[in-house]
Amino acid sequence: FFMETLSQKLQISHLAQDNNDPAVNRFAVLYIDVDHFKLVNDSLGHSVGDQLLVAIVHFLKRCIRSADMFARLGGDEFAILVDQSNDSSFAQTVAERIRALLSFPLKLQEHEIFTSVSIGIACSSGNYKQPEEILRDADTAMYRAKALGRSRYVVFDQAMHTQAVARLRLEIDLRHAVEELISSSTSQFQLYYQPIISLKTGKIVGFESLLRWFHPQRGIVSPVEFIPVAEETGLIVPIGRWVLQESCSQLQYWQETLNLPGLTISVNVSSRQFLQPEFIPQIEQILVSSQIPNYCLKLEITESVLMETAISVTERLEQLRDLGIKLSLDDFGTGYSSLSYLHRFPVNTLKIDRTFVEGFNSGQEQIVRAIVTLAHSLAMDVVAEGIETPEQLERLKDLACEYGQGYLFSPPVDRCKAELMLRNLLTNQKLPADRIL
Ligand code: C2E
Ligand code: MG
Ligand code: MG
Repeated sequence: FFMETLSQKLQISHLAQDNNDPAVNRFAVLYIDVDHFKLVNDSLGHSVGDQLLVAIVHFLKRCIRSADMFARLGGDEFAILVDQSNDSSFAQTVAERIRALLSFPLKLQEHEIFTSVSIGIACSSGNYKQPEEILRDADTAMYRAKALGRSRYVVFDQAMHTQAVARLRLEIDLRHAVEELISSSTSQFQLYYQPIISLKTGKIVGFESLLRWFHPQRGIVSPVEFIPVAEETGLIVPIGRWVLQESCSQLQYWQETLNLPGLTISVNVSSRQFLQPEFIPQIEQILVSSQIPNYCLKLEITESVLMETAISVTERLEQLRDLGIKLSLDDFGTGYSSLSYLHRFPVNTLKIDRTFVEGFNSGQEQIVRAIVTLAHSLAMDVVAEGIETPEQLERLKDLACEYGQGYLFSPPVDRCKAELMLRNLLTNQKLPADRIL
């Protein structure tokens, strides 16, 4: 009925437009999604979840006029159709009212629940032909509201549609690339390797493998762009497995042909990948087939993994530790740093995010000093990311930071260049950065 009404509204507004009377019959659609509803269901049970929905419906009804139309689209999603002919910002007024009303806790059974909603608003325009289109745009705006931190409303604009289409294109192309990865010998993916340097000796101790996607039309796509899409779609699972396999077999090759048994490889692991039940068996199998010593593999996880509640993160990390695999906490200081948890997890290394190294001159040195001290007192070592200048290097050495990575030494390079670097090091030809080490 909601869709039917929407369809009629569109027809009437097209007629009005044909008659050069666009002011009448303006309307807007609000797409509403309850934030973290699943959490309520999972923690307090479905009957509390149901009651919460009913309570929210009562609130929503209080925010609209009798002529406006309200529908449940499914689950925790609702839509409101409001007339805007007299007041073009009425939809926003409704959204603000909803937010204000929901800012108080709801009392359900013995629970006091704070809830919020994310709202997307799409306004009628001559461009909409089908009711689904305006709903789709309101939905897109709602997703933007979620991405901006939830508990807010966002009004749709055309740029969002362009972005949504680009995002879909990226997802389709990524699927193709993954299919190709699984089924054929060629691959659009390649690993680059960035050396990790001991600041004491100036020698390479290992590499971090960093994924590159060579898109057939677009050229290189940054992992910053496609990893989040891979995470969201689950494609990170086959990609991540390939990255681990490839990294370990590359390390095995270097260790053997160059006689460098202690060389390490650091591999980024995303939280979705880490949460999979098959994650540990998979790693064990890769370690067996690549025949590298377990302690030469370092997994880089981020703080978001430690905050996961779906599984026992500690247990999984302890299993990895028992296998002898090393763990690094990547981008330290940029996430939900809750220092109280650090000592609970068997982490070997903190990687200081490059924003702190970059900010050396603007007073971040004290923070870096504190992180290094914290790490050392928890028996962890420290890798500084993003070292670009000799000054940064000197100061990090003064702070007793053990390892470093950054353009000063080398950007991430393909495996041939990485191998050349290792060979040069063995024949004592120096890395460019060695001059200043
Ligand atoms: P990350 O793990 O923190 O990797 C460090 C990033 O900093 C890399 O970006 C690297 O190229 C860049 N970098 C290194 N030295 C410097 C420097 O001196 N200056 C500047 N400005 N940047 C430097 P990249 O390769 O674009 O990767 C970005 C992020 O994508 C990575 O951050 C990591 O979180 C993710 N990523 C990359 N490969 C993989 C992968 O195989 N799996 C997963 N899950 N994530 C990956
Ligand atoms: Mg990393
Ligand atoms: Mg990092």
